[in-house]
Amino acid sequence: MKKHNFYAGPSILPQYTIEKTIEGIQNFAGTGLSILEVSHRSKEFVAVMEEAQQLFKELLDIPDGYSVLFLQGGASTQFAMVPNNLLNKKAAYLDTGAWSSKAIKEAKGFGETVVVASSKDKAYNYLPKDFDIPADADYFHITTNNTIAGTEIKTDIDSPVPLIADMSSDIFSRPVDVSKYVLIYGGAQKNLGPAGATFVIIKDDILGKVDRHIPTMLNYKTHIDKGSMFNTPPVLAVFSALQTLKWLKENGGVAAAQKRNIEKAGILYHEIDRNKLFTAAVPNPEDRSLMNITFVMNEAYKEHEQAFLDYASQHGIVGIKGHRSVGGFRASTYNALPKESVEVLVTVMQDFEKKVL
Ligand SMILES: *Cc1c(COP(=O)(O)O)cnc(C)c1O
Repeated sequence: MKKHNFYAGPSILPQYTIEKTIEGIQNFAGTGLSILEVSHRSKEFVAVMEEAQQLFKELLDIPDGYSVLFLQGGASTQFAMVPNNLLNKKAAYLDTGAWSSKAIKEAKGFGETVVVASSKDKAYNYLPKDFDIPADADYFHITTNNTIAGTEIKTDIDSPVPLIADMSSDIFSRPVDVSKYVLIYGGAQKNLGPAGATFVIIKDDILGKVDRHIPTMLNYKTHIDKGSMFNTPPVLAVFSALQTLKWLKENGGVAAAQKRNIEKAGILYHEIDRNKLFTAAVPNPEDRSLMNITFVMNEAYKEHEQAFLDYASQHGIVGIKGHRSVGGFRASTYNALPKESVEVLVTVMQDFEKKVL
């Protein structure tokens, strides 16, 4: 049976990425060796790294003066690396979910951390709209897509201080005005490639303003100076991510991806709003994520929750159980998810509604 992969991360990748990765594992760039057993200093791998950085810049239209890095340690390491490198006196954060909270916790270890607004009062089911960013903050940190709660800041906001974003789960889902940010980071495993690589897009001239000790490996400068090749990079993850970038370019880039994502999410939200069994977890349509669509079973039908999951899985639907901290359901509709999978889920929801009512 065909599987419809709605996992939140690691998550669906283009078939192209999987096939090219298998090829690279068997015979990398005509070397007769596997990518797994070739030096990261070989000319073949250096070409992979350079092309991945180049395609990042091309697809996101990254201006001059920025570097693209592929690091290890996940987005979670960035929660500490950002303040370690950039928090001098004070940092400002927007608390829109579990990942934001983790970033805030790390920042507090490095200096004054102001939470300008939080949606924790309603289990993060909305985006705070009115907040003041202190003009003397070293930076303002946001999480553009809240993978767990299912909200998304879908535009590039204006900030009076340098803007930093965790874009783990919506990078490459839409065009981004990178010039509005000084740093964008995320784990690759949501919309880009396998786990193991963390991407960082960083404006080169923002560094060098803090006095504290920064361990070599946690210093962005170390990696910028060496073109992200200071030590062994996550070679397989970068190789695989490069295949996704090629696939994305072939399929019209981020503008076309955004169009497809709006269409897919629209189909699913429409059914959630129509179906008598379900309610969207995020009430305000403006705040709803196009990547992680969260919904719950209405109180009156709660006892059917497990039956719905079972019914969905009988139809090849994988990964729609909500995050353990919020329950309900979450369908992740990343770039690689075909519209057909969303249509199958909608049909399953309609058929299940008929069974119950
Ligand atoms: C998944 C996720 C993280 C954590 O990423 P790791 O690579 O597992 O550390 C952080 N932020 C957001 C928004 C995420 O979706």
